Amino acid sequence: MTNVGSGQYKHHQVLVVEDSALMRRVLDGHLQEMGYRTVTVENGRQALDKLVTGYYPIVITDLVMPEMDGRELCMAVREMSLGGYVYLIMLTSRDSREDMIRGLEAGADEYLIKPVNRAELMVRLKTAERILTLESSLKKSYEEIKALSVRDPLTRVYNRGYLDERLVHEVKRAFRFERPISLIMFDIDHFKLINDTFGHTVGDRVLVECADLLKLSIRQEIDWIARYGGEEFVIVLPETLSPGAFVAAERLRKNLATKVMAADGAEIRVTASFGVSSFTPASQKEDLSMAASLIAGADRALYSAKKEGRNRVECVQL
Ligand code: GH3
Ligand code: MG
Ligand code: MG
Ligand code: MG
Repeated sequence: MTNVGSGQYKHHQVLVVEDSALMRRVLDGHLQEMGYRTVTVENGRQALDKLVTGYYPIVITDLVMPEMDGRELCMAVREMSLGGYVYLIMLTSRDSREDMIRGLEAGADEYLIKPVNRAELMVRLKTAERILTLESSLKKSYEEIKALSVRDPLTRVYNRGYLDERLVHEVKRAFRFERPISLIMFDIDHFKLINDTFGHTVGDRVLVECADLLKLSIRQEIDWIARYGGEEFVIVLPETLSPGAFVAAERLRKNLATKVMAADGAEIRVTASFGVSSFTPASQKEDLSMAASLIAGADRALYSAKKEGRNRVECVQL
């Protein structure tokens, strides 16, 4: 068995689109020998049906076929939004330069002259694999960068930019379904003292531990945390009324106050003050300034909690 490329290449699925049964069998035979998985169809229409339900990264298509020809298929594929890039190879006859040009114009990446020569087929497929591998590595990098761009690098919770963007969506949702939403803002008490006593590195460590503890104390997949500023965090609680948000904030407060963090041989304890703001839309009429109002309300409540002696929770209803 001949092997094309290595590893993942072999697993790329090839869709063969050809109306001649003989030609289909020949192509399919070559591809199977090279280690490809294949699916064969008889015309462009059938190929499109396959492409809307599954991803076929490589398509080898004949030009002249009943129902939908190869050019129409290429143009349709380029218009569609698919799971990834589709590398299109057009089969053309030896004597027609025009067919080749028209095929490439329609969106084909490459062409192969019939009858298909095995060695030529192999090199065309290698090119396809190079392009597809490049595309998937670019996609992977893009996803990684995107994931990093919404996170705070120290604590790994969401950053302020993400908070601003997503909170507006959460508020829209609350209006659309006339559902409540609450927001908790908290600020570590006398954090400056931690830095002054143990140094900034230990201060950083404490921030990370606080964030880790909070991640475990919220409803997974529903509530989410963002770092608002230095030692201030925000937790958004969709579908939550004020009493529920108060209970959640109290639980966070207690979890934090009873946690002992070990750093530099010292046992560090911290407390935090919490401000909670809650809101239930009375109609579906969106008021997007409510996102800023939720933050401002929680900030006011937090200020009261500090004033009232710290390590406590205060609430406001908007
Ligand atoms: P309060 O109870 O009133 O909140 O007192 P506080 O000392 O926490 O408040 P203040 O706002 O005066 O100080 C916040 C401190 O947080 C000051 C700043 O140096 C520290 N801080 C902010 N961001 C970071 C960080 O990323 N790492 C470390 N180690 N410290 C930070
Ligand atoms: Mg044909
Ligand atoms: Mg602060
Ligand atoms: Mg503070």
